[in-house]
Formats: sequence, structure tokens, C-alpha cells
Amino acid sequence: MSKLTDLSLEAALAGLKAKDFSSQEITKAHIDACMEAADLNAFITTDFTNAMKAAEKSDAKLAKGEGGALEGAPLGIKDLFCTEGVKTTAGSKILGDFKPQYECTVTANMKRDGMVMLGKLNMDEFAMGSSNETSAFGPVVNPWRKGEDLVPGGSSGGSASAVAANICLAATATDTGGSIRQPASFTGTVGIKPTYGRCSRWGIVAFASSLDQAGPITRTVKDSAIMLQSMAGYDAKDSTSINKPMPDLSAACGKSIKGMKIGIPKEYTMDGMPREIEDLWQQGIKWLESCGAEIVHVSLPHTKYALPAYYIVAPAEASSNLARYDGMRYGTRVEGDNLYDTYERTRAEGFGKEVRRRIMMGTYVLSAGYYDAYYLQAQKVRTKIADDFKQAWEKCDALLTPTCPSAAFAVGRKLNDPVTMYLNDIFTVTANLAGLPAMSVPAALDNNGLPLGLQIIGRALDEESVFAASSALEQCAGFTAKPEKEKWWV
Ligand code: GLN
Repeated sequence: MSKLTDLSLEAALAGLKAKDFSSQEITKAHIDACMEAADLNAFITTDFTNAMKAAEKSDAKLAKGEGGALEGAPLGIKDLFCTEGVKTTAGSKILGDFKPQYECTVTANMKRDGMVMLGKLNMDEFAMGSSNETSAFGPVVNPWRKGEDLVPGGSSGGSASAVAANICLAATATDTGGSIRQPASFTGTVGIKPTYGRCSRWGIVAFASSLDQAGPITRTVKDSAIMLQSMAGYDAKDSTSINKPMPDLSAACGKSIKGMKIGIPKEYTMDGMPREIEDLWQQGIKWLESCGAEIVHVSLPHTKYALPAYYIVAPAEASSNLARYDGMRYGTRVEGDNLYDTYERTRAEGFGKEVRRRIMMGTYVLSAGYYDAYYLQAQKVRTKIADDFKQAWEKCDALLTPTCPSAAFAVGRKLNDPVTMYLNDIFTVTANLAGLPAMSVPAALDNNGLPLGLQIIGRALDEESVFAASSALEQCAGFTAKPEKEKWWV
């Protein structure tokens, strides 16, 4: 039998059910792996004592042939999900030692299904970033380091790094403009952002509420199906939650895509994008064709406006959502000369540079004099982008694009150049603006030996086609490369 940390989530769950090993054994193996890989800085908070207790409970259930869909599986949770009694930071200093008194719906669903939570994973502060360097708890290292520290992508960098390094079986993440798919692409893992409304946002620290969605990062497409099936579901506590049944995602994996129409949007290319990414995209087309899909060429003409629109809408919503961190109710508080001074000092001390930049942008575009010119205009662009997709769906069932315009880059390289950093999200933000499901699948290594992903975007609520097409890509790509463990620390 292979090492317990090398198993896919699917194989681990089967092994637990068959009693090949216990939850306590597999949990212990992952705890050891987490400690060994501490230099990756993937966790902000570990909760190993409670993980072992949860594993013991799972073992008791498994012994009786009981248990849920994730029973006994050691998993990681992005530190944006509120977890009862366990410190939740959102990657920021401003929340201090905040320990939620409640469990967010997504992790409550996963606990109902028997997950063992190893701890809370590092992330960009308030999920704002594409490299995990804005975290108040230090950058996360990509296990695919090549002689220098590489970023794992962001904002769900801890989730992606931990899954790629086999220190948890799978992890939760969130995606407002690409934070599941871009880190998945940078680390050779799978990540899906479902249709907006599939996963309840209740209890997830808000960044930009009309764009935020939770989803999994895993090592296989099937594992993403298992995770998402547990995480998603209607929740009356979130007014944007969708009350529609989720298709059987595991059954969608491996389903024939014969006759499925795959659209290739001509606008998803960018100046300076490496040739290898163009070539991989062409390869992806051939792979899907070889599985019987029909390729059609489509146009999404407003794509070029997506990134500017996103970087108006997201900061606008963030500036409103983050107004609640005022030092009065929870977290950091820096006493000032009067109430306003206390607010100012608390927020100056508690928020990092990128979050302050977003709040400034957001309040600017929402201010009376500029609202029409920026925010209203961005909302109109958003509608145009959603309309582009509607037109495309008349010709095809899903779209194939690269996930990102580059592979992982070195720590520090883009941190002081926000526009270059924002360009990373060019192929991912459109799915958030239109609320569509989109998945990144690891497809190849570039010339430097770093992973690259391809993205499948689907119609709203049609996760079934996204999983079917992604699993076909996964089969054809046969991506089995792993980061070399010796290089995690030097
Ligand atoms: N990188 C994007 C940003 O900084 C997306 C972040 C996200 O999806 N949470 O806003």
C-alpha cells in the first residue's frame, strides 16, 4: 500500500471504509507531514489535538459501518471560514484572537459528513492578492520551488500549497476573482469555483459579496466532486443561496463528452503570454477533440474590460464589507484621543498595505462625484460580460481557456507592482463577474518544470458538464508530476 499521505481523497475514503487503516492512523500521518513541511508556512493555526479527537469519533462510526461522505478524512480549511472555537484570522492582524462562536455553513456541512479538520490555512489578507504575500502571517512557499522561493498563487495559497505537498487530503478555498483556480494552476492541483450561490457564504468572512464563492482545491477532479458535493447546498441563512439540487458530481467524472460543444474564445490570449501556454491551449483542444468533443470558435468581445471592471466592483464591495472592522466589537483596537482617532489608528495598524489600497480604491469609486463614472460604468460592463457568455452558450456547452497567463513566479517579484499582480487574474475574473462555474485542471509542466493549468468554464448550474469536460482533460493530460520534497527547504 502506498503511503497514507500519497492517497487521493477518494482512495483514502475507500480505505477507511474497508478498514485498511483507521482515521487516527491517516490523521496522524498527515499531522507528521504538516510538521515536517512547516517551512511552507501553509497553516496559520493548527488544531491537531482536536483533529485526533475527531478521528477517534470517526473511527467509532466507521467501526459500526456508519459515517458520512468525508468520514475520517483529514482536511485543511482556508482561514476565511469561521470555525467554532478555532481562531479565524482572514490572514489579517485586525481580527486579533477572534474565535468565532459559530460554524460557517460550508464547514458545518463538512463536519456533518465526518471531516477531520487539521487546521486553518494561510491566505492573502482578506483574500486580496494573487501570491499569498499580503498575508499578515508571512508568505506561503510553493512546494514546487526551483532553487528560489516561488509563490503558490493566491489568495488560497495555503490551501494549494498544502494539497500539492500532500499534507492534507484536500482543502477548502474561496474564489472572488480567481483565488481557487490561479493557485491550483500554480501548484499542479485541481480547483473549482462553483456557480455563484451553490455554496453558502454564511460565516465566510466577506470580501466582495456579489463575487465570493467557496470551492475545493484537491489533487484529482474526482476529489473535487466529493468535496464540493459536501460543501454545497441550499442555506436559508444566505439570501443568495440557490435552492436547486446539485447534480451527482462523482457520476459526472468520466462521463462521455462525445458531442459536447467546446467553445474557444479568441480573446483569451494576452501580450507577453508565454508561447508554452498558447501551445498547451492548442493541445487541450486536441485532447478534447480526441474524446469526441466538437470544437467551436466563439467571441467574448467585452473580455478586455473584465479586469478593470473587477478591480472597481471588488474594492467597492470590500470597502463596504470591511467598514465593520473598527476596533469596537472584535480584534485589534488601538486607543486614540477620541472615537475617530481610535477608528483611524485601529484600521491603520490592523490592515496591511494591499487591504488599505483596496479600501481607498473602493471608497473613491463609490464617492458621490465618481460613482457614475466608475462604479455604475463597471456594473454595466459586468452585464455586458454576462451577455457575452449568454451568446456563447447558444453555440457551445463549455469553454476551454488557459487558467493563467504565467506559471508561478518568485516571491517578491510582483509585490510592489500592483497592476502586474492584478494582470494574473485576467482569465479568471470573468467567471466571477458572470457567476459561472469554472475549474482549473493541471495539464503540463512548462520549460522550467513548473505546472500550468487549463480552465473549463460552464453555464450557470451546469457543474455536470464542467466536471465531465475537466475529467476528460485530466485523463488526456495524465499529469502525475509532483514537487520534489528535498527542495521544500534549503
Ligand atoms: N487576485 C484577485 C484579487 O486580488 C482575486 C482574489 C480572490 O479571488 N479572492 O482580488
